[in-house]
Amino acid sequence: ASEKIRTLSELRHLGSYFYFLLTTTIAVLIGSGVAYLVQPGSYVSGSLLAATLAQVPSVEFSYVDKSNIPDAIVALIPTNPYETLVAGDMLQIVIAATIIGVAAICLSDKHTRPFLELLASIQMICMVIVKWVLRFAPLAVFGLIAQITSRVGVEAVVGVGMYVVTVIIGLGGLVVVYLAAVALVSKRSPVQFFGCIREVMLLAFSTSSSATVMPVTLKTAEEKLGINPAVSRFVVPLGTTINMDGTALYQTVAAIFLAQVFGVDIGIQGILLILITSIGASIGTPGTPGVGIVILATILSTVGIPPTGIALLLGVDRILDMCRTVVNVTGDLTACTVINRLLKLECDQFQPTAAASEPAG
Ligand code: ASP
Repeated sequence: ASEKIRTLSELRHLGSYFYFLLTTTIAVLIGSGVAYLVQPGSYVSGSLLAATLAQVPSVEFSYVDKSNIPDAIVALIPTNPYETLVAGDMLQIVIAATIIGVAAICLSDKHTRPFLELLASIQMICMVIVKWVLRFAPLAVFGLIAQITSRVGVEAVVGVGMYVVTVIIGLGGLVVVYLAAVALVSKRSPVQFFGCIREVMLLAFSTSSSATVMPVTLKTAEEKLGINPAVSRFVVPLGTTINMDGTALYQTVAAIFLAQVFGVDIGIQGILLILITSIGASIGTPGTPGVGIVILATILSTVGIPPTGIALLLGVDRILDMCRTVVNVTGDLTACTVINRLLKLECDQFQPTAAASEPAG
């Protein structure tokens, strides 16, 4: 019996990772498709761009040379992690962190605990500082937008408005995919599914943080959707950490929008690089307000788009953050519903005491 439980547990783990990767890939494909169809960058005038960039100090970034992918991949491996850290090369830092992380899981708990505690403490300190900065951000953005609008005119609002519309259309398309999965795989009515998760969606919209609403997401999964706790208690915390489909879609649209604005010809290789880095970046984005745009800088610098262009997006980021957080949370609950359905029989045996059970479909 214990052998069977171990197999089922592995199935649940592998299934969840595969599902998350699949939906994030669908998200970035939808994002790039919509961005190429709508071409939001073509609505931004040169004068708006010049006025925005004039406000932002220029920063030097090293770009990956897309013309030679094998060399570019080799160049991603940090030769000196300290130098990488000081130079602030985000992609190399992420790769160095991955190597250190893999090495750490090869060691026993006793040896890694002090290291993990130190990192957790550094992360908490950084988050407090980011929170302070984010508190002042609306004021700074208000000043920036007011100044640009007074100089360039309402056309500034129209240009960025098209970008907002593009992200929202993409997010809407992704929700349709979720509802189709709910209807086809878990044989639930999408209307009933929406009715069950309404409250948690509203909470995600108002807090812009999937991590903050995680306890409510878990409660909704178990009490309203009837998900087996063996599934929900694994899928929801994991999904909150790594399943950020809304963020991945938004980052893809934002990167393509800025490439259009700056007239950067990224080509097929550039698009592939954007898609891959958006998937990776969304996995690494924590479920807290406004972090998606911070991580976006990594994606931009990878494909040669000036990260200073983020100044164009800052003014509307709060509203997009609220929308993408709703989609992130909806994605986690869809994952629970689908995985619960796929493992239904097994889960009933896996945790026979679970009170919740999915309605027959
Ligand atoms: N606010 C998002 C979330 O919590 C993350 C982001 O895209 O900024 O899910």
